[in-house]
Amino acid sequence: MTLNETHDPARTSWVESANQADACFPIQNLPFGVFAGEDGRGRIGVAIGNQILDLAAAIETETLQLPGEIACALCSHRLNEFMSLGKDAWHTARKSIGNLLASDAPRQDRLLRPMDEAVMQLPAEIGDYTDFYAARHHATNVGRMFRPDGEPLMPNWLHLPVGYHGRASSIVVSGTDIVRPHGQLKPEDGPPVFAPCRLLDYELEFGAFIGTGNAMGSRIGIGDASDHLFGVVILNDWSARDVQKWEYQPLGPFNAKNFASTISPWVVTMEALAPYRSEGPARAADDPPLLDYLTPAPGSADAIDVQATVTLSSQGMREAGTSAVQLSRGSLRELSWSFAQMLSHHTSTGCPMAAGDLIGSGTVSGPDKDSRGCLLELTWRGTEPIALPDGTERKFLQDGDALTIDAWCERQGAARIGFGSCSGVILPAQ
Ligand code: MN
Repeated sequence: MTLNETHDPARTSWVESANQADACFPIQNLPFGVFAGEDGRGRIGVAIGNQILDLAAAIETETLQLPGEIACALCSHRLNEFMSLGKDAWHTARKSIGNLLASDAPRQDRLLRPMDEAVMQLPAEIGDYTDFYAARHHATNVGRMFRPDGEPLMPNWLHLPVGYHGRASSIVVSGTDIVRPHGQLKPEDGPPVFAPCRLLDYELEFGAFIGTGNAMGSRIGIGDASDHLFGVVILNDWSARDVQKWEYQPLGPFNAKNFASTISPWVVTMEALAPYRSEGPARAADDPPLLDYLTPAPGSADAIDVQATVTLSSQGMREAGTSAVQLSRGSLRELSWSFAQMLSHHTSTGCPMAAGDLIGSGTVSGPDKDSRGCLLELTWRGTEPIALPDGTERKFLQDGDALTIDAWCERQGAARIGFGSCSGVILPAQ
């Protein structure tokens, strides 16, 4: 995707908070989200600095003028309809919204809502959700732990993006509390028991929202798969490791993953991410060649350089006023399979995708110990606990723990843009 005036790093906004160097939401970002209106129903907004531009208000007052179909979609209660309009419509909206918010446009303070007072909702009706397993270091680490005597990577992993169909009904927006799930746990030396999960984990991931889908029986080719993607959010795929270990063979994860997944509320569009596109990690010399339907065009740069940190604060730390500790950092660039490859593979059977469907990247782990994307890897199945400032240690998550993922993009010659936060607090089992 080519860069245009909406990416100009010199551009500023009349919303002063958007112009600060550390702002998540400068005028070059303009992510879409949904906040609760006075009647509790969703309203589509765009994040700008520490404010939300109320799009329905901007359209109703004719401050924002857009073709009827786009205006209509942006006045609905979720982003699905807008997502389904395709990349030309997304660009038209982004360009007009950027012009409305730019420093040389008249102030429109009555269209702003303070972000810290807003209650965010899910940005889209998520019809379907699939989670992949696209980071080689994560797949290798997990393979080493669970199959110490075999090859860490399963033979299929280098040929196709491995995934499983997840559960859309339990995807929640950042800030939603997470109740520790019950599950069937199998002690080493006895029969299974039904009890609260003891090995509760998080997974640092990103999710891509599908914009334009495909009809059943048709495929989305690798060449234009990126054009079908609307945007990206942070995703925390909460995981019950003890449940997973007992249930996962032979059909893969089930209840270990279906109780909750948290996403960040602001969808950073593929157009906003254009300056940070890059090549993914090179395939190793002895890796098998890719089949044609998964082979990107040379120079397609389907990877995205998004960086993230994961921080934890226990209830005790928050009560003592201790700041959260960083558990790890990661980069979406580490993925061996791009979202475009995941989408092409997913639809290669003719499986239909629709606007608002979500695909998860899989745990983003890099080569270094501090770039491992979950506690399973960070503590190596609990054998290397992490010491916290409140004197306790963590192998897995405890009740009261608050887990936060922050993410951003930065590159020389481009503005720094953020994703905001993806947070959740663990509540005791009920
Ligand atoms: Mn996952």
